[in-house]
Amino acid sequence: MYRTNTCGELNMNNEGQNVVLCGWVQKSRDLGGMTFVDLRDRYGITQLVFNMETNKELCEKARKLGREFVVQVEGKVRERSNKNLKMFTGEIEIEVIKLNILNRSEVPPFTIEEETDGGEELRMKYRYLDLRRNSVKNNILLRHRVSQEVRKYMDSIGFIEVETPILIKSTPEGARDFVVPSRMQPGTFYALPQSPQTLKQLLMVAGFDRYFQIVKCFRDEDLRADRQPEFSQIDCEMSFVERNDILETFEGLAKYLFRQIKGIEFSEPFLRLSYNEAMEFYGSDKPDLRFGMRFIDLTEIVKGHNFGLFDTSEYTGAICAEKCSEFTRKQLDELTEFVKKPQIGAKGLIYVRYNTDGTFKSSVDKFYSNDELKKWAGLTNARPGDLILLLAGDKKKTLTALSELRLEMGNRLGLRKRDVFFPLWVVDFPLLEWDEEEKRFFAMHHPFTSPVPEDIPLMESDPGNVRANAYDLVINGVEIGGGSIRIHDASVQKIMFKILGFSEEEANEQFGFLLNAFKYGAPPHGGVAFGFDRWVAMFGGQDSIRDFIAFPKNNSGRDVMLDTPAQISPKQLDELQLNINLKK
Ligand code: ASP
Repeated sequence: MYRTNTCGELNMNNEGQNVVLCGWVQKSRDLGGMTFVDLRDRYGITQLVFNMETNKELCEKARKLGREFVVQVEGKVRERSNKNLKMFTGEIEIEVIKLNILNRSEVPPFTIEEETDGGEELRMKYRYLDLRRNSVKNNILLRHRVSQEVRKYMDSIGFIEVETPILIKSTPEGARDFVVPSRMQPGTFYALPQSPQTLKQLLMVAGFDRYFQIVKCFRDEDLRADRQPEFSQIDCEMSFVERNDILETFEGLAKYLFRQIKGIEFSEPFLRLSYNEAMEFYGSDKPDLRFGMRFIDLTEIVKGHNFGLFDTSEYTGAICAEKCSEFTRKQLDELTEFVKKPQIGAKGLIYVRYNTDGTFKSSVDKFYSNDELKKWAGLTNARPGDLILLLAGDKKKTLTALSELRLEMGNRLGLRKRDVFFPLWVVDFPLLEWDEEEKRFFAMHHPFTSPVPEDIPLMESDPGNVRANAYDLVINGVEIGGGSIRIHDASVQKIMFKILGFSEEEANEQFGFLLNAFKYGAPPHGGVAFGFDRWVAMFGGQDSIRDFIAFPKNNSGRDVMLDTPAQISPKQLDELQLNINLKK
């Protein structure tokens, strides 16, 4: 046996026992006649002690141990004089009698401790060393736990996990496909799934009724902040259900995970907001509801006072920040700069201070009397001591800018706490999105999303106003998942393809297999997919998903450890009958 115990489990209950431990040398310190070594494994750190007086030879051997050497030690558990009560093993140490060096290590390129001196690129290049660090290791362990809990819960309510293929044909999630050349049919390509969307629908036609899978998805997008070209979804589909059945089923999953992983109980049903409400009140289809500052539409009430901006704006919206009337000039200037940033694009910021003595001070005092400002205060529910902030302009842009301002205020006021979670469903998204450049509609979700039943007649007469039978689960301003009730009626699917500009031939070429399947008894069905990496990162209290993936890619889609993507050999190209002839 290599070891009797791990480095994370011994304490005063084991005092006096003889044990054998294995692990990596985290660090060692020589103090006079003693040498202390921190021995680390997956489970924790245990202090080893070597004594010059009692065993000179062994102590000298210990002094030569380098960082990350792999060793096996035998010794006796004894009480430490210098206790570290923060560690489970912090009351004891091992008085070593035998030291066996199992493997040596070169000096690692960065220190493998909680706080490392290694930059991102270096950490990724030596990810196997980075993964030895507690913080990253714990993320991977958390991921494991969440995946086990998902499987447990889904199994308990009758879902079966079915694996779907990775080498498939293009799927319609709106990103670019990664493609893989075929050797057996030279000149043809597989696509990697952007999601198992069509396959899970086929499983419903096959009668499986309740499917789920924790599955890799691949999307060849320019990597905006914190996206990965391959990521994991908890992908789910159900038959004989309406929207409410799906929302209730997966609200169950969410509540279960929060309970098991975070110890948080949600006893009330999750809030449901329509897309239109989310946009009107928070300027976003994924509102962060950990705090209020709901938008108030003041468009009409502010008109007619010779203030040009308000008079000519399609929309004027306000938020009320509680207890902020004493924001300094400098703070208000910073906020003005913030909303004027090109990516936010507001023309300026109007503020009203509702002073604690009941008076008002605003940046538009010239145009609005105290009484007018009092009316605004009434509408925005402001009380003495509050600050009202207003933006005006084109409606869509202003809602977005106000949303950014709201989030910025939330950040500044510490209202976006990591240990508070506010889940909600956003429902009734538009089915279609108009693309001004291409002058055509795109599916907001994907082309198999059904309209809400009462809007089906509008599909041909007023497609822009058709609501989708779709929903997103949003937690703390992050879209954690989304899905829809699918079209299972071939005639509705036909209209959908027509609106999206597919000819019958094109639709058949791309999705013939699905349309065909629908001729043989497709049940009413719907589903959802959750961003697994993101959900785990949220449980782990972090914004970035990268450290919750064992071997992630960098922002240019590179794996710097494997050094890929890379060229392939002439022989491989030959077998594929491909010539590389890059267009400039
Ligand atoms: N396939 C969809 C996605 O990946 C989710 C779904 O509709 O179930 O976003």
